[in-house]
Amino acid sequence: MKSWLHVLWVTFTLRCPNCEQGKIFTGLFRMNKTCPVCGVRFEREDGESVGGMYINLGLAELTTVGGFFLADALWHPPFEPHLIFWVIYNVLFIVLFYNRSRAMWVGISYLTGGVRPDPPTA
Ligand SMILES: [Zn+2]
Repeated sequence: MKSWLHVLWVTFTLRCPNCEQGKIFTGLFRMNKTCPVCGVRFEREDGESVGGMYINLGLAELTTVGGFFLADALWHPPFEPHLIFWVIYNVLFIVLFYNRSRAMWVGISYLTGGVRPDPPTA
């Protein structure tokens, strides 16, 4: 039995939670339907990617708001450039973290039984 932390780490590195070798994504935004190594299906239902969006937006807002107030408390930067910096950070975070958040959702789905090998056919 793999620990949930290990599974989340494996999927954070964009690898299949089942075999830990196959790539979940082929590009920044293009997700494989199945693992190229073990063939496990990453998403079985339409709309499963919403969970990944929640992870992405949650972490983006948490680090943006937290970073804004932490930097403001530590260095008291001028308000407007400070705000502009964090808005740009927020947008970049959402775009660049998109694949990892969706992959981590695949890991959560794997831990709860949603990502599993298909039974053999024939
Ligand atoms: Zn695999």
